[in-house]
Amino acid sequence: MKMVCFNQMGDCYADYLPFDSRYPVILPRKSGVTRLIVKSYHERSNHAAENNHTLSLLSARFWIMQGREEIPDWERECCECHKRKAKAAEQIMAPQPKI
Ligand SMILES: [Zn+2]
Repeated sequence: MKMVCFNQMGDCYADYLPFDSRYPVILPRKSGVTRLIVKSYHERSNHAAENNHTLSLLSARFWIMQGREEIPDWERECCECHKRKAKAAEQIMAPQPKI
């Protein structure tokens, strides 16, 4: 059964959400621990091109300050993402022989 609750501050929350989602761990930006957590969830999302997927996985347990900017920061350092985004090289053709 879905039940919407209000706490003493008037904030609304759903009691069917797990405890971690209702009270996420707040992490600062540019922290070593935050970076490792973002790396882990980025790899769990199979190097998803969109930040929203990684952020939604993270939001189930963590709240990262400026998370939308922290995830692309990690993507710029990820070797696998560099490989996936790389353009294929074009072959340079030799000039045609003159007849
Ligand atoms: Zn990646």
